[in-house]
Amino acid sequence: MSTESISSRTDALHIQPPIQGPLRRHTHTYDLLRQCIHCGFCLPTCPTYAVLGVEMDSPRGRIYQMKAVADGKLAVDTNFIEHMNCCVGCRACETACPSGVQFGKLIEAAREQIQLEVPQEAAPPSALEQSSTALTPSLNRNPLPLTLLRRFFFEIMLPSRLMLTLIFGGLKIYQRSGLQMLVHRTGLLRFADSLPTPFKGKLSTPEALMANVQGEIIPRPLPERTPALGVQRYRVGMISGCIMDQVFHDINEATIRVLSTNGCEVITPQQQGCCGALHIHAGEADKGRELARHNIALFEQYDCDAIIINSAGCGSTLKEYDHLLRDDPDYAERAKIFSAKVKDISEFLMSIPLQKQPGELKQTVAYHDACHLLHGQKIKQPPRQLLQTIPGLQLVELKESDWCCGSAGIYNLTNQKMAQQLLERKMDHVIASGASVIAASNPGCMMQIAMGVRQRGVSIEVVHPVQLLDEAYQASGIYSYKASKRLTGKSFFIGLLIGLCVGLGLKALTHLSQRQEDI
Ligand code: SF4
Ligand code: SF4
Repeated sequence: MSTESISSRTDALHIQPPIQGPLRRHTHTYDLLRQCIHCGFCLPTCPTYAVLGVEMDSPRGRIYQMKAVADGKLAVDTNFIEHMNCCVGCRACETACPSGVQFGKLIEAAREQIQLEVPQEAAPPSALEQSSTALTPSLNRNPLPLTLLRRFFFEIMLPSRLMLTLIFGGLKIYQRSGLQMLVHRTGLLRFADSLPTPFKGKLSTPEALMANVQGEIIPRPLPERTPALGVQRYRVGMISGCIMDQVFHDINEATIRVLSTNGCEVITPQQQGCCGALHIHAGEADKGRELARHNIALFEQYDCDAIIINSAGCGSTLKEYDHLLRDDPDYAERAKIFSAKVKDISEFLMSIPLQKQPGELKQTVAYHDACHLLHGQKIKQPPRQLLQTIPGLQLVELKESDWCCGSAGIYNLTNQKMAQQLLERKMDHVIASGASVIAASNPGCMMQIAMGVRQRGVSIEVVHPVQLLDEAYQASGIYSYKASKRLTGKSFFIGLLIGLCVGLGLKALTHLSQRQEDI
């Protein structure tokens, strides 16, 4: 759809501009919208425009629609929601933009506006969404079970460390007890995926993404304080993340070892919570603000020189707490101080710089740029420089390393077909690189590319750059560490209990869905 057709469609309508929410006139967001000069330089860098070839699914088209909503020329309707939710939020358009448009903030504002204006259990899906070839299903106008799932995910699961531990513990038991193999061999997953529920055809991808979750069933809490090895140069806070700590707990442990080795006392407060990145990307900004306030107040108690994060998606959000809380009189200044201290692990290590020489690692590695590190935080060289400090490691070029892999937070769960198309493009280049190891600085990218590796049946390891540095330090004899994957009787029992609860929950959701269809 062209901008002209939008104009002609909306000119005849009498639409009230929003009276609440970020897409109002005379707001900071409205000023950001007006920075776009419609030059179109961003179009060739946009993954959704590349796949769909539709102006309204380009950065320029999306900004045009947001401004039309703010000006009362366009309603927050099905089309608007679809075009906003189709965006992967990669922010490649920001890097390309000569006018300094901060698209990440705009798309978050648009999704927050959608959440404010559209009731969650409203109308049935559009013809586009119902089509088997649809690439852009809407996150909104969900049937009741999906709304309940959304509320559970954002309000109960992500903010609670205990809930995350229980759910991922159950998942690890499912994978390691043989249950997963049984489910696959008997065709149970295919059967469940074909049932007429709101999750029809959508269960296989999350299951494939979560294959081989690493670490102990119930991860040991990270130490609250880890002393510096040798002379202390810095005191740093460590954000452990929620998905990172459950799925890649070993990366958090490696991060702490590497920081300690380089003269940092590492503080990892047990009471820290989710950073709110997934909430904010999905328009749940109020919950994101609540989580941000908690983390700011907590880390203020420790007077750290820097706050370290090893997950690109979380880092990008933490660095923008100042924007998120700009209108909060109690937190606006405190958020600025907090955000200024946040550093990605590679950014920090290359700035201090390394104190200890890593040992040799003979590996051929290609580096994938996580969108929220490259485009969100403008960090390109530090992870590459970090890898190049390792003797014997050969860093090879990954074509289109700056192109989204399709992970994008929970995009690969909500927009599975588009995400798969982006993954196919990424995997072609991964295989062509000839690397035996792919390094990426974001857990979502790691899971997505690892799924692509399994789909293609190739033997390529997917790691975080800090894991390679950790391995190189072990090779040099500075320290040694062995990961544990024990399955104890106690954790097995907890897993069974969770499995039962999840099963009952899904049953209840299916029942509710059936009732709604009957009505
Ligand atoms: S964030 Fe990415 S997908 Fe969204 S408009 Fe920008 S380039 Fe396109
Ligand atoms: S490059 Fe920037 S100014 Fe040009 S159309 Fe894209 S967002 Fe607008």
